[in-house]
Amino acid sequence: MNQLTVRKDFPLINRLPLVYLDNAATAHKPQAMLDELQRFYADNYGTVHRGLYTLGENATSSYEQARATIAKFINASAEEIIFTKGTTEGINLVAAAWGVVHLKADDEIVLTQAEHHANLLPWQWVAQRTGAKLVLIPLDQKTFLLENPSSFISSRTKLVAVTMNSNVLGPIWQAGDLALLTRRAHEVGARVLLDAAQEVAHQPVDVQALGADFVVFSGHKLFGPTGSGILYATTAAQKMMEPYHRGGSMVYEAWFDRATWQEGPQKFEAGTPLIAEAIGLAASINYLNQAINWRAVHEHETALCRKLIEGLGRMPRVTIVGNPVILKAHGHLVSFVVQGIHAHDIASILSSKGIAVRAGHLCAQPLVRALGHESLVRVSVALYNTLEEIDTFLHELECTIVLFNQLVEQS
Ligand code: PLP
Repeated sequence: MNQLTVRKDFPLINRLPLVYLDNAATAHKPQAMLDELQRFYADNYGTVHRGLYTLGENATSSYEQARATIAKFINASAEEIIFTKGTTEGINLVAAAWGVVHLKADDEIVLTQAEHHANLLPWQWVAQRTGAKLVLIPLDQKTFLLENPSSFISSRTKLVAVTMNSNVLGPIWQAGDLALLTRRAHEVGARVLLDAAQEVAHQPVDVQALGADFVVFSGHKLFGPTGSGILYATTAAQKMMEPYHRGGSMVYEAWFDRATWQEGPQKFEAGTPLIAEAIGLAASINYLNQAINWRAVHEHETALCRKLIEGLGRMPRVTIVGNPVILKAHGHLVSFVVQGIHAHDIASILSSKGIAVRAGHLCAQPLVRALGHESLVRVSVALYNTLEEIDTFLHELECTIVLFNQLVEQS
């Protein structure tokens, strides 16, 4: 993979005089995806699963081909792929269609302290509705890793819903721990949901190897359109789920007083689905399949992270929030604080210099608070970022810190 050639495939990234380092929030789009959306809307537009005319049939065939492409990408079968708007909707879908249906008082839902709000708030809601309890696997405050997560599984555990990679800290699992947790959960009859939102754009996700019942991710973080997302749910898990939304397309037969449902993913895709979004996501995946090599992406992103960590490590009053050793080996994001300067001020000043980073509680407020902070700065890279961009960021951050100190001294 030639990383500079890849960069040319992302028109906005290539065109703007902007150092874009907020890829954990959302990633930019390859031309191949934009072309596919244009083709769909301009040449082939129709709705799916109903029109007995050519445009409708073409749209159905492209939509189902997209499902097959995405299934292959994560080593699933097409019947296990449910299109959603993103990770948040995927988790809410499982919470509503499985959680409130099957959980009861004193059942336990095991999460980690490192969950994004998207994988915490839906389970708070399920717990409030059913009387189930949340059990949080704590993070070691020195290593930023989960300590002995499997010890939190008991006969009361009915669901384990955990992130594969934290959007604040990066990797939080010690080797083999996630597989062990999944195995233990299944031994006690619990279901397992994995939040792959911060995993899928950085390394291959193989749902067979993971062995979870549910895996969720967002298309827009995987270079696809906004409003695209995937819920992988095994056929056995789907059979235990109620419909999430009710309406057109998901129905098998309806009467005035009752209805029956389709089997398979259609049961969870009521109404006119996210057709262009699904087709666009498949186009991004097709692009990745032909343009990149995951080992090269890993090496490139970790080289960017190493440079970031070494540069940040040399700056006085900068504290990295995360495990630098692990991030240098497996990272795609680095969070940090600068003593005496609010994260929002840093992000605003960097923005005025053409650098986009994220600042705040990163939609993981309980975690950031547990780590003793209110707000962090996060730099996150993708396959199109360059070492020169990291140099620019480090230089401008240093200037920002100097500038801020001068302003404070003058005031
Ligand atoms: N989970 C994690 C780990 C995330 O990083 C994010 C987004 O940042 C989400 C869930 C929510 O994703 P979305 O906003 O695309 O639904």
